[in-house]
Amino acid sequence: MPPKMRDDIANTYFYSLLRALSAVVDGEAAKLRATDFQLNEVYPAWALTALRQRVNPILWAFQSDIVEATSLEKAVNFDIEPLAGFRQKYIADFDSRYIGSHQGQLKALATKLAMAERINEWTENNKEALKKAYDEKVRCGSAIFRQAIFSHNRPVTWHTRGKSCPYCRALNGRKIWRRDPWFVRPGDAVDSGEKDAPPMRSYSGCGHCPLHQKCDCFIS
Ligand SMILES: [Zn+2]
Repeated sequence: MPPKMRDDIANTYFYSLLRALSAVVDGEAAKLRATDFQLNEVYPAWALTALRQRVNPILWAFQSDIVEATSLEKAVNFDIEPLAGFRQKYIADFDSRYIGSHQGQLKALATKLAMAERINEWTENNKEALKKAYDEKVRCGSAIFRQAIFSHNRPVTWHTRGKSCPYCRALNGRKIWRRDPWFVRPGDAVDSGEKDAPPMRSYSGCGHCPLHQKCDCFIS
């Protein structure tokens, strides 16, 4: 059964993250246009400050609420103090991923016109903020849950919701422990066992949801 409390928390934080990320992406786009796409005016320092001000505190609060919900869900007290280092690293990694992705995308484009088109795509209908908020709703919530459970030397199990995709279905019910903390080890492939879905390689591995963009799986 889906974890109702954690799902409710994740859905609430999704909207806070969406608002904050929209503000960052819009500000970033304005700054890029104003500096005529001088990328070093925006990355990494400007973007990092914006993320630290607007998004990082939300991720931090999201993690706290998930740990509290995990204690209620499992009827065991999961102490949040020892998780502080993990939480900080998770958030720093989020910032790096965000900046690396945006800077990398723009750097790869040959002309300022192409860069202008790309940032229009990001801001149009909040597309980029929606994508990142959805990803964090699943990623941040399951990463901290897994870390809390592992801190008590317990296993976590993968669950799909509804129909799901062939790759996630292949992970459904799989259980992992801290001593081998991967649903998919780095470099391994997920074999769906289905003819129209060839093995999907995961270079960075998968220790918690999401397995892919728009994945709505959960761990328990
Ligand atoms: Zn999934």
